[in-house]
Amino acid sequence: MNGDRKQDPMNTIVLVKQVPDTTEVKTDPKTGSLIREGLESIINPDDRHAIEAALRIKAEQGGKVTAISMGPPQSIDAVSEAMGMGVDKGVLLSDKAFAGADTWATSFTLGKAIEKLGGYDLILCGRQAIDGDTAQIGPQVADYLGLPQVTYVFDIEKIKATHLIVKRRLEEGYERVRCALPALLTVIGELNRPRHPMIGSLLDACRDKAPIRIWNAADIGVKTGEVGLEGSLTHVIRTFAPKFKRQGEILEGNAQEVVRLLLRKLEEARSSKLV
Ligand SMILES: Cc1cc2nc3c(=O)[nH]c(=O)nc-3n(C[C@H](O)[C@H](O)[C@H](O)COP(=O)(O)OP(=O)(O)OC[C@H]3O[C@@H](n4cnc5c(N)ncnc54)[C@H](O)[C@@H]3O)c2cc1C
Repeated sequence: MNGDRKQDPMNTIVLVKQVPDTTEVKTDPKTGSLIREGLESIINPDDRHAIEAALRIKAEQGGKVTAISMGPPQSIDAVSEAMGMGVDKGVLLSDKAFAGADTWATSFTLGKAIEKLGGYDLILCGRQAIDGDTAQIGPQVADYLGLPQVTYVFDIEKIKATHLIVKRRLEEGYERVRCALPALLTVIGELNRPRHPMIGSLLDACRDKAPIRIWNAADIGVKTGEVGLEGSLTHVIRTFAPKFKRQGEILEGNAQEVVRLLLRKLEEARSSKLV
């Protein structure tokens, strides 16, 4: 970011998901549910970069940063950690009615909470959660709120009164995009280096001294049938870990022998139509 920014305060909302501390999500082969035992919970890594970006924007031009998370009661730890990093206000959306939400129901619930908060200039979220992995929430929340969106953001170059200029990562290179405000950005790890939470603020958040609000379905004005499993447009019929039929084979010998052997095996595989 550079100094060519609008001087008005920027109110930013950051979406924060609590996820298990692993990128190798394992499922119970019998029940098909996620195995969470023994796993620590963390803030989704991309979301820490979103929080950092919001805090840097606030440091440059003032305004407020609010973190919102939807999840079970223990997700308050993620909101508390965000407060420890310097976020001004936290909101936890927690209600049994929200359980089992697909991405559509999650986006709808987050969208309703954002509407209730109002007064925002920018919404930041991670590109992708390391457990659900769909990368659908950001775009769906933007769609629900009728906001322009830029995904895969790795540089917030300028923020002016009416628009911002950001760079988004492409497979080979990048795209420089001008986007009207208010807007939603999904960010990637390249954007910045997130700060650690400050012990004092973290302790305040954990001791209920920080302003974290807990909202249920009634608080955001939704009926129970509109959210969670009941309000979901998609339902998981079965979850399973794929079985790998192919097995690796180590070819032994010197380089020439191995190459010859490999060519013979590829020929055999082609003639038997395996590749
Ligand atoms: C077809 C389908 C069915 C599903 N059914 C179930 C189910 O029955 N039960 C169940 O528990 N889960 C279910 N899920 C998973 C659940 O929908 C997702 O975990 C959740 O909606 C978020 O999606 P994601 O993890 O892919 O997030 P992504 O879209 O990958 O996340 C991108 C960003 O959005 C924000 N974000 C995502 N989730 C939240 C959140 N909860 N709070 C705040 N910010 C958030 C974060 O900034 C995150 O970095 C289902 C998913 C799908 C695709």
